[in-house]
Amino acid sequence: MTRAYNFSAGPATLPESVLRQAGEELLDWRGARASIIELSHRGPEFMQVATEAEADLRTLMSIPDSHAVLFLSGGATTQQALLALNLAAPGQVADYVVTGHWGKTAIKQAQPYVAVNVAADGDGGGFRDIPPATDWRLTDGAAYVHVTANETIHGVEFQHTPDVGDAPLVADFSSSIAAGPLDVSRYGVIYAGAQKNLGPVGVSVVIVRRDLLERTGHARAPIFDYARHAQAGSMLNTPPTFNWYLAGLVFKWMLAEGGVEEFARRNARKAAALYGAIDGSGGFYRNEVAVAARSRMNVPFFLHDDALDKTFLAEAKEAGLIALKGHRALGGMRASIYNAMPEEGVQALVAFMGDFQKRHG
Ligand code: PMP
Repeated sequence: MTRAYNFSAGPATLPESVLRQAGEELLDWRGARASIIELSHRGPEFMQVATEAEADLRTLMSIPDSHAVLFLSGGATTQQALLALNLAAPGQVADYVVTGHWGKTAIKQAQPYVAVNVAADGDGGGFRDIPPATDWRLTDGAAYVHVTANETIHGVEFQHTPDVGDAPLVADFSSSIAAGPLDVSRYGVIYAGAQKNLGPVGVSVVIVRRDLLERTGHARAPIFDYARHAQAGSMLNTPPTFNWYLAGLVFKWMLAEGGVEEFARRNARKAAALYGAIDGSGGFYRNEVAVAARSRMNVPFFLHDDALDKTFLAEAKEAGLIALKGHRALGGMRASIYNAMPEEGVQALVAFMGDFQKRHG
């Protein structure tokens, strides 16, 4: 059996070596004579997994000691609510820069707890660009400023860390975490669901500046309290051990492949090849995002005639290229090319697109 090249936006393709290792270790984790997911999260075996995963992620992303790392259940959407509960006092304003669908979700989740100020909104332009920072209407004394580092559906990505003044910068990195080097110290909070660049769905990584854990925030149940999770080593309750373990294997794989610098190079080559094929197709394919805001990870594109969409998807699948259907909000196609997508996968897609155009152009 040859595995397909899987362009799914998330849950997404994982490194084959990681899947093989997880398979091999499933019945007997390193001589424990039980699977790691059958053992107590507080036992020595899982404690080792948890400790290594945090240490490896810290190495991989150069996370400074000023920041705590949490591994939590609940997806990125859950964090969008929790961060408002934890960081904002009742009635306080938080600024949101909206560059696509997930920025809007972040607002919906936070709105019960904070006074949301939409500092900038790319909706007017159909989310094809990032509103210029000079136009952002930031609030003095805001609890935080929220951005979506990479919009998974619209394919819009910040290429640089924005400067937002004194308020802590909070960023949803669900679809671009560890895609390249990042100065973590510039962020108050970085959060991400694991199911794109880090592992399987079911665990979220929250990287939070420790001083922010001292904020009073809103009255909340202990289980919604980031500071308590940090004190408890993300084991306030039973954590999603399998997901955490698998993410840990992905971290080790990324480090062995050369770390985020190497992935930045690979991701740049993959994105250049795919955008190059789209832009060079004479209008047969098109991507509508401003070049300076194009995502390295999610490439939405449209065929010049959407009557061809079904045929494109069917023939792609036949060629071993799966999950290219665009999000229902946009239609068309979308190729997600996360860290675990090999360069050969993108080359195969580019070759298929050229061939398809010859036959149907
Ligand atoms: N933010 C971004 C950027 C996403 O891509 C997604 C999921 N596609 C989410 C948030 C929501 O994540 P979850 O389903 O894990 O709650």
